[in-house]
Amino acid sequence: MIVDYHMHLRNGNEEIAHDTWSVDPFVEAAHAAGVDEIGFTEHIYYFKQTRSLWTVPYMTDLCVYDIEPYVEAVVVARGRGLPVKLGLEVDYAPGREDETREILAPYPWDYLLGSVHYIGELAVDGEPRLVDAVGVEEAWRLYFEELAAAARSDLFDSLSHPDLVKIFGARAASFDYGPVVDAIADSGVAVEVSTAGLRKPVRELYPHPEFLAACRARDVPVTLASDAHSPDVVGRDFDRALELLRAAGYETVTVFERRRGRQEPLG
Ligand SMILES: [Zn+2]
Ligand SMILES: [Zn+2]
Repeated sequence: MIVDYHMHLRNGNEEIAHDTWSVDPFVEAAHAAGVDEIGFTEHIYYFKQTRSLWTVPYMTDLCVYDIEPYVEAVVVARGRGLPVKLGLEVDYAPGREDETREILAPYPWDYLLGSVHYIGELAVDGEPRLVDAVGVEEAWRLYFEELAAAARSDLFDSLSHPDLVKIFGARAASFDYGPVVDAIADSGVAVEVSTAGLRKPVRELYPHPEFLAACRARDVPVTLASDAHSPDVVGRDFDRALELLRAAGYETVTVFERRRGRQEPLG
């Protein structure tokens, strides 16, 4: 089984296209790439129903779409028997866990991804850059502290691009993944192996082999992800992701259905 559990529903121009006919090109691309099942995971901050959770201008500016057409688009495709799952890429809002849970409760999610894109007002993968504001060592410490809190929040089924903080290529001199992997393992959340990092300045898969090995040692389940914003990126570089997973000792991948995970043989 090969899944691609991280992508954003867009039209051919990478514009928001929350309609069921925009699902088909992603399904066709998945089939061509040898991916058995895909999951859509739009950014939570696009949806006005979640407006009260955000303070960062980048997020509040984008927070204008209705969530219902998005959910409907994927649910209709799912109902047509297409191999698609309904997900969401959820920014972890510390201290707002109950509100996040309540806002998302009405919808039939197959899984929720947990992401850390911001520490306060500082961006992990955008501007203003966290790494420039506080330095590399502190950026890494803050990022992984927040990721551990996201894991412990019990809000998420899988964590997106788990070491996103390395995106620009700067890394802490030495880093102990032990505490964050403990938080992940204790909470039962999965982590995604994402090929998106290969297309960023770091030119590396997320997460680092040492991080993934620590996850394997603690029996943390995994998913696969391209983070596609257009159909042609679905399943991109998955041979590299599979190589990394196998090198770490993984033989299964997580398949989610209505927020329950099960293990299927990888490949
Ligand atoms: Zn993301
Ligand atoms: Zn994404």
